[in-house]
Amino acid sequence: MRVLMIALVGFLMSAAVPAAVHAESVLEKVKSRGKVIAGVRKDVPNFGMTTEQGEIVGFDVDIAKAVAKKLGVGIELVPVTSATRTALIQQGRIDLVAATMTHYRKRDDAVDFSIGYFYSPQTLLVRAESGIKTLDDMAGKKAGTAIGAGAAENMKKAQPKLTVQTFESYPASFLALQQGLIDAIGTDIIILASLRANAKNPDDFALPPTATYGGGEYALGLPENDSDWRDAVNHALMDIWKDGTWREIYEKWIGPKSKLKIKFEESGFKMHTYN
Ligand code: GLU
Repeated sequence: MRVLMIALVGFLMSAAVPAAVHAESVLEKVKSRGKVIAGVRKDVPNFGMTTEQGEIVGFDVDIAKAVAKKLGVGIELVPVTSATRTALIQQGRIDLVAATMTHYRKRDDAVDFSIGYFYSPQTLLVRAESGIKTLDDMAGKKAGTAIGAGAAENMKKAQPKLTVQTFESYPASFLALQQGLIDAIGTDIIILASLRANAKNPDDFALPPTATYGGGEYALGLPENDSDWRDAVNHALMDIWKDGTWREIYEKWIGPKSKLKIKFEESGFKMHTYN
């Protein structure tokens, strides 16, 4: 009887735990192909932009490169936008996205995220002469942003009386602001500060300090349900904090010697300790 019981329990347990289906992890694919395919931006100054020589450079690009280096592989850069990055990950056409992508809870339905590697609240960029200082001043006005940016929803929540117009890219939004087609651009402070810093006359534009409304941590977008890959990417991020690479990249693109001139202590980003 006892033997029968053990056999029965054994049978039930094996029925309850299906045999592991071994889907190849992106980690294995990356290792065997010898490079990571990373989605980066071309339209965000200081984060992912194209030089006159056609090279894509920026904070996010260097973060992706540093992660690849820690993984011991090369890198191929694929340009993405706020609108395309999620689908490219879902379709398996890129292995990760390093593209000013904020980790919003609802995005978890579509992709997975690494640990955070930057932080930015959101605000408005306005023409200095407009006098717009708060979100209240935006009632009845038009704010632009990039298609796919979380700011479209966040701005509307913060000021239901504004109208949102989406553009294909941030430079296109900035052009519309310069031409007076919109009254403000809404997105991450760091993106707006970058657009302003790279403008011909930065003083023509202002970032009203009292108009913040949301934002969060930037994280690398990753394919769903691949914990081997996610662990490897997270460990690489931890390693680049520990060995000072992250800080070097920060200083190059965002720190006091860059166009943005933001001291690390004022960036709002806290590097967590992972032992
Ligand atoms: N970080 C924000 C987002 O992920 C805005 C910047 C962007 O368009 O990527 O929606």
